[in-house]
Amino acid sequence: MRSPRRCSRNGCPRQAVATLTYVYNESTAVVGPLAAFAEPHTYDLCEPHARSLTAPRGWDVVRHEGEFEPPPPTTDDLVALAEAVREAARPAPPRPDEIEAEQHPGQQTGRRGHLRVIPPSH
Ligand SMILES: [Zn+2]
Repeated sequence: MRSPRRCSRNGCPRQAVATLTYVYNESTAVVGPLAAFAEPHTYDLCEPHARSLTAPRGWDVVRHEGEFEPPPPTTDDLVALAEAVREAARPAPPRPDEIEAEQHPGQQTGRRGHLRVIPPSH
C-alpha cells in the first residue's frame, strides 16, 4: 500500500501531486506526475511548488504541462481525517461551577484527575 505523500519542500503541508527527478547526467530536472515509487534524486512536490520550480543554473526543466492529479486518499489519510473530526468533537472546557468546587478543598466533594470523588452518604 502506498504511504501518504507530502510535498518535500520545507514546511509545506500540501499533498504531493508531482515528482521532481534530477537527471544528473543530462543536467535536467523533470517535473512529472507523481511517481509510484520514491527513488534517489526524486522529490515529491505539491502543485504550486511543481509549477513554480526553477532549475539550478545550467540545468533545464522539463515540466509535465497537463493537470496534476492528486492520488486517491489512502487509509492513512482517512485515519488522519477521523482524528481531525475527533479533535473537533473534544469536550468543552470545565463549566464554572466545576472550577468553583475545586477552589474549596474543605468540601467533601473533590476531584482526582478527571474523576469526581463522591462522599459516602450517611
Ligand atoms: Zn509544496
